[in-house]
Amino acid sequence: MTKNIGVKVSLLTLQATRYCNLRCRYCYVSADGKSDPTVMSDTTLLTTLAKLRDEDLLGERLEISWHSGEPLSAGTAFYDNAFAVIDRVVGSKTQVVHHFQTNATLIDRRWADFFRRRDVRVGVSLDGPRQLHDHNRKFRNGSGSHQSVMRGVDHLRRAGITPSVICVVTEKSLHCPTDIHDFFCEEGFQSISLNPEEIEGINTRSSLSQRDDWRVLYKRFMDLFHKRMKDFGNRLVVRQFSHVHAWLQEKCQYASGPAIPFNHLTVSNNGDFSTFSPELITARHERFGDFILGNVRQGRLSDAGRGSKFKRLWSEIMDGLLRCKNECPLFSCCGGGAPSNKLFENGSFASTCTIACEAGIRIPFEVVKESAENGTVMWKRMDGAARSKETL
Ligand code: SF4
Ligand code: SF4
Repeated sequence: MTKNIGVKVSLLTLQATRYCNLRCRYCYVSADGKSDPTVMSDTTLLTTLAKLRDEDLLGERLEISWHSGEPLSAGTAFYDNAFAVIDRVVGSKTQVVHHFQTNATLIDRRWADFFRRRDVRVGVSLDGPRQLHDHNRKFRNGSGSHQSVMRGVDHLRRAGITPSVICVVTEKSLHCPTDIHDFFCEEGFQSISLNPEEIEGINTRSSLSQRDDWRVLYKRFMDLFHKRMKDFGNRLVVRQFSHVHAWLQEKCQYASGPAIPFNHLTVSNNGDFSTFSPELITARHERFGDFILGNVRQGRLSDAGRGSKFKRLWSEIMDGLLRCKNECPLFSCCGGGAPSNKLFENGSFASTCTIACEAGIRIPFEVVKESAENGTVMWKRMDGAARSKETL
């Protein structure tokens, strides 16, 4: 009998469908994929969860993220059934928390009731005020989606749900930090993630890195955002700053989740699966081809960890982790970043710095470090990190 791989899956990303009604300029999923209306079958879902349970890959808590494509395209009836299947198969030993990352354009009263009834954590993709958002996040016919997103957000509010937000920061955003901050505050949002436009999948250029001075502009953007947050009494929590603060309180793990084998598992609508960064499920690369490690309907999930494809990926990802650990003073804050960013920006998993880590870790760190009230504790922590690095 083969042994299991000795880890628990903490994040299961399920692609109910690849279909999406939007065509965002910086999307990493191909237009072909986003036109595919296939919805994950009951058998695929049931087999995925049954194998996780039977191969002892479930721990005390499992986060399920419905993502990659527009998850609401699958319809509420799909999820009523899917949640029942998951409850039945997983049982009570594992706490399941469902997350939806949605463009919000399809949210109506029925969806809002469903989210409230099932205690779903809802994240909406919204890039700030209308003009900024509509520049990039358009429907297939080219019209902006802001009005539809805000209609969806209104339905959530009426159901008592305050969604978190992913706001993609592009070159255009860098010139209006206060407008973006004030928009989110005035609309009553409480928690956002400022994600830089990344080079990923089919998005082979980021509007940020088109400018040589993007780091200077990004630092100024984050400085002004941070200052505005204080002016507004910190009504808005920004994930990148919270992450640095959590690190100051020593709450961070060492390696990041997407860099740990099988900590993240991603299953596509047809049952193909991959691990590491969820974005890899739809990606292709000239050196690796695709990143599919198998199909949930064939064999054990754990066996993929013994295959040559997995070993090749893990060997290069581990080299990247070790380089980060040895070369970067912020390794213990960052955990070595997301492998997919490294591959698509630097051409290799065995690399270090990316737009995502500069904008998401290094610059927020600088901003917090320079803010007077954190200076002392920050340097104590940095001194400790430097000393522990010497002993590695
Ligand atoms: S909503 Fe998401 S999946 Fe759809 S086009 Fe935009 S980025 Fe891509
Ligand atoms: S901040 Fe960048 S270079 Fe440093 S550990 Fe993270 S990914 Fe590696």
